[in-house]
Amino acid sequence: MNAILEQFEAVRADVAAATVGMPQPTLIAVSKTFDAAHIEPVLIAGHRDFGENRVQESQQKWPALRVHYPDVRLHLIGPLQSNKAADAVALFDVIHTVDRDKIAKALAEEIKKQDRRPSVLIQINTGAEAQKAGILPGEADAFIVRCKQIYQLPVIGLMCIPPVDEDPVLHFDLLASIAKRHDLGELSMGMSSDYRQAIARGATMLRVGSAIFGARPVPF
Ligand SMILES: *Cc1c(COP(=O)(O)O)cnc(C)c1O
Repeated sequence: MNAILEQFEAVRADVAAATVGMPQPTLIAVSKTFDAAHIEPVLIAGHRDFGENRVQESQQKWPALRVHYPDVRLHLIGPLQSNKAADAVALFDVIHTVDRDKIAKALAEEIKKQDRRPSVLIQINTGAEAQKAGILPGEADAFIVRCKQIYQLPVIGLMCIPPVDEDPVLHFDLLASIAKRHDLGELSMGMSSDYRQAIARGATMLRVGSAIFGARPVPF
């Protein structure tokens, strides 16, 4: 069996084993930096949820793959610039990284213009890290309300990337508590190194890259 397929099946089995008798979280196979040849075994295995970090890279890769797999659900999990909002709305089904008014407004305008309505998650910078995207926890409540009421975005949940050197569980719990206050059902949390802990804290969307596709070139 193909190595990527083997790793994918191992992660899928691991997630299934960790969620016996529970609702199944969506496993998002994060395929950033990997080309079609690496992605196709996972598509052939029937998987349909994929995550990408960059709009431009996704535009180069996914339209051709979608000809054969039109039911793919593409998740944007990297930072979004407002000048890419039109392209993001055109290409993605779920956008996990809304974190400021400029982006929320740009997405709202594009959703109105285009006959497309990707679901939206709000990224929370749970560790308040200077270099990291996401709205600060203290500003999250007001921003979530603005996204729903002023921008009328289809907000379905929250997303976080915990600091690398801290226990992720505290961050997963913080994310879950903010989501609960706003009655948001989706929690996008957990990556290759911590998806088991994320499942235990109620994750509904797992973003798993290297455990499926292998190591990436360093800058990612
Ligand atoms: C790359 C990336 C992932 C996947 O990370 P792995 O550690 O390879 O599983 C998940 N979420 C985001 C936001 C990413 O950029």
